[in-house]
Amino acid sequence: MNIRIGNGYDIHKLVRDRPLILGGINIPHKLGLLGHSDADVLTHAIMDAMLGALSLGDIGHYFPPSDPQWSGADSLILLSQVNGLIQEQGWQVGNIDSVVVAEKPKMKPHISQMQDNLAQVLQLEPNQVGVKATTNEKLGPVGREEGICAYAVVLLTQV
Ligand SMILES: [Zn+2]
Repeated sequence: MNIRIGNGYDIHKLVRDRPLILGGINIPHKLGLLGHSDADVLTHAIMDAMLGALSLGDIGHYFPPSDPQWSGADSLILLSQVNGLIQEQGWQVGNIDSVVVAEKPKMKPHISQMQDNLAQVLQLEPNQVGVKATTNEKLGPVGREEGICAYAVVLLTQV
């Protein structure tokens, strides 16, 4: 089999006095995401999808919250490490599709920069990295702006 699929999901809590970082972009907002690393929920979902495609476990296994070395870590650097792991096993990303679910702020102005950032780290063309955004129609914890979540699917192809 020369293609593999993976899916990833992540959610982080929104709190005061934290930056809001999504796809490596610091987005101006009154609330930011809480987490041990920079809490980039989109990048985390993508990493989990990449690992899942090869049954390599999840990001908590490689970058445990208990390890101080990952405190405040730039998730794009973690993404690059996950990509290295995939490449060591003889695979590369074919394409990614992802969705950020956030009530606020507006994601649209930042989407293309997120695609560029992620594509650059993964050595892909931006059109191989789909990033979409939606609200949760004010429903549930995401709708109440208590957190932001992200979903990703990744197709890997054998090098
Ligand atoms: Zn996370």
